[in-house]
Amino acid sequence: MNTVTATMPDQTHKRAAARAERLESAQALLEQMPGVAYRFANNTQRTVLSIHGNCESLTGHAQKALSKNNFAWSELTHGDDRDFVNSELQLSLAAGEAFDMQYRIVDKSGDEKWVRDRGRGVVDDTGKCTAVQGYIDDISPLRTAAPGTQATSARVSSLLSQMDDITAYAKSQIEIGRQREQLAHADRLYTLGEMATGIAHEINQPLAAISLFAQAGNRLLEAREYENLPEIFDKLSQHAHRAGTIVERIQNLARRNDHGRKVADLNALTRDVVDLAEVDAQTSHIDVDLKCAPEPLKVNVDVVQIQQVTLNLIRNAVDAMRALDYSHGNTIQVRVEELEDGFFQVSVSDSGGGVDQAVAESLFDPFLTTKQAGLGMGLPISMAIITAHGGKLHFWNNTSKGATFAFSLPPSPDNRASNG
Ligand code: ADP
Repeated sequence: MNTVTATMPDQTHKRAAARAERLESAQALLEQMPGVAYRFANNTQRTVLSIHGNCESLTGHAQKALSKNNFAWSELTHGDDRDFVNSELQLSLAAGEAFDMQYRIVDKSGDEKWVRDRGRGVVDDTGKCTAVQGYIDDISPLRTAAPGTQATSARVSSLLSQMDDITAYAKSQIEIGRQREQLAHADRLYTLGEMATGIAHEINQPLAAISLFAQAGNRLLEAREYENLPEIFDKLSQHAHRAGTIVERIQNLARRNDHGRKVADLNALTRDVVDLAEVDAQTSHIDVDLKCAPEPLKVNVDVVQIQQVTLNLIRNAVDAMRALDYSHGNTIQVRVEELEDGFFQVSVSDSGGGVDQAVAESLFDPFLTTKQAGLGMGLPISMAIITAHGGKLHFWNNTSKGATFAFSLPPSPDNRASNG
């Protein structure tokens, strides 16, 4: 091995080192993913060929236990959902499509969990679909918020085909060599997991709102109180529209384009978010105290992306205060103001426990979370959005209690002119 390395040309050696580093970081990321990335044989038992990620928290079984002795994923699948999973898989594979299913598994301790399983078939040189690969994560909290006992499926080939494009590009960068198969696989799963995690995180908010409003609508129907129903339907369509727009905007973000920007008043934009945050706020008995600037603060932004950032900061503030049982108070202060340097700022202050010193430096790294059910994608996504808008996102611990997260944006060029 040493002899081979010593005779390698310098460039080849560097590429091999970069490749090894890339593989290592992909594997490290897989270990931190909330779900599992897998390759199963294409048989009814769904025999595990390889599995990575958070096996233990999803299934109760260690990664090693799932990887050996031809472990069958179907053994973990809830008995009532096995037929559904198999028929859905065979239908999707026969059509050459990606699959996206929700069904139940039973973990090692006997607890039922709802999972979402997304993936597609893997075809060998002869054109035969020998395996299936994808990503499975725990969606029990979401299913609890929106109950329903049926296993379900949806086709997501728009999303997955985009992931394919990115993966194909990544693959083309990798030197053809001994490890090519293995590397391409890790790379594909990395992209799949990263994008799916980000989207799941941002889309949870409108989905939770939809579920709550649907339940409220049901109660009104049962009580034959029809007069408020139109308002409920309005809210449902508003939040469903928001979910759709978020997916679209995240895709745009991945493409790094500037489409969708327009001149908007930061005051009005923030006021809308505070209204939208009502679901979190009401269920947690939180007050959001909003103070806007006296004049319109015009910024040239992608409105949904900036609202997404503000919502995320408010949601984090709620979490921080909830973690202390609101012992320092239950008010979040949101301020919109002009800074001395001419930038416009939105700040969100809470009275939670403040940012832990141990995590402060790496707070914006993907997957850093101190929460049991956290994903650690909110702040990195927020940072990417604000940076792409020419602004800054930062935080400080308040002198009394809690933390303040603030982002600033450059004024739109026509702001001064139109404000006189
Ligand atoms: P998540 O909310 O899923 O953990 P984020 O990227 O939004 O992901 O946040 C990462 C981490 O930053 C949180 O787990 C928490 O430790 C810390 N954090 C974010 N906001 C606050 C806050 N307002 N107060 C204290 N810590 C915070």
